[in-house]
Amino acid sequence: MRTKILVTRRLPAKAMEFLEENFQVECNPYDRVLERAELFEKVKGKDGLLPLLTDVIDGGVMDAAGTQLKVIANYAVGYNNIDVDAATKRKIAVTNTPGVLTETTADLTMALILAVARRIVEGDAFARAGKYEGWSPLMLLGTDVHHKTLGLFGFGRIGRAVAKRAAGFDMKILYHDRVKAQPELEKQLNAKQVDRETLLKASDFVSLHVPLLPETQGIIGPAEFSLMKPNAILINTARGEVIKEEALVEALQAKKIAGAGLDVFEREPEIPPALSEMNNVVILPHIGSGSLETRTKMGLMAAENLVAALSGGVPPNCVNPEIFS
Ligand code: NAP
Repeated sequence: MRTKILVTRRLPAKAMEFLEENFQVECNPYDRVLERAELFEKVKGKDGLLPLLTDVIDGGVMDAAGTQLKVIANYAVGYNNIDVDAATKRKIAVTNTPGVLTETTADLTMALILAVARRIVEGDAFARAGKYEGWSPLMLLGTDVHHKTLGLFGFGRIGRAVAKRAAGFDMKILYHDRVKAQPELEKQLNAKQVDRETLLKASDFVSLHVPLLPETQGIIGPAEFSLMKPNAILINTARGEVIKEEALVEALQAKKIAGAGLDVFEREPEIPPALSEMNNVVILPHIGSGSLETRTKMGLMAAENLVAALSGGVPPNCVNPEIFS
């Protein structure tokens, strides 16, 4: 009998083929997130689970699977959708997909910085609406990106990859992270570690790259917006819950900051109508890692984690390796 796994949403073809070569795969047949009752039903009797960040995987889901469940291989680098403590208690390995989506997410972060600063989305809508009647010195003036100060909140894989790109724009880079980067890297990227307050006060662009943790939830709120420059632009390609969204709306309405580029939201897929109405906000539907190449690599990486765990080994990207000691 082949090992049974549940994939909660169809993945790119190459990843599905690899999974089907290795396992007896049940896949969500719908093009939507499984409802909780459906997830409970489908996970029953599975040895492995491959969920997405849109699936809440708590102790209830693990118990519904049964005691044979060995591994939960998340299809994301962030794993705030999984109750890791509950998995650890049940000796279930939890894995993620770090690294393979770093560059793709950093590309999208730069795209948001440029889109908000240079009013790309607004300009496209303007031209398509037939409003372009000739070059004009004051039409759709934005703000420069080059030589400005970029504040990276979180200087891990994605934060550093954004810094690498921003260095090409001659940006001055400030970062706030729990750990100081190597001096050579700081020099190479023209990056300087600062405290959170300095980062918020001094940056023209503030870009968020921390994971969603209890200590980062709502870390950007009214007090933080008050520190930011009125010309500052906030970019979020991390997790929506890192920002208090109501405070963001209020800060934009009160012109405490100049704009925002958002790939993630506090209550996805809900997007506050007030944000959708603002021209100085660029809104994307959580597509940070959304290239075919990267989504395929994420699927293959999750599959390799399943293969390792279900053949008795330690999966390469285990976030609770203590279960093996
Ligand atoms: P990473 O390499 O772990 O980097 C996160 C950095 O934030 C680490 O250096 C971490 O320090 C630091 N950090 C954690 N808590 C902090 C705090 N309270 N204050 C300051 N720094 C703190 O992760 P990554 O691969 O860059 O990914 C970052 C996040 O991006 C993911 O967790 C995920 O939620 C999000 N993401 C979103 C998309 C998308 O589609 N929009 C795609 C990929 C990733 P330590 O190492 O000391 O913990």
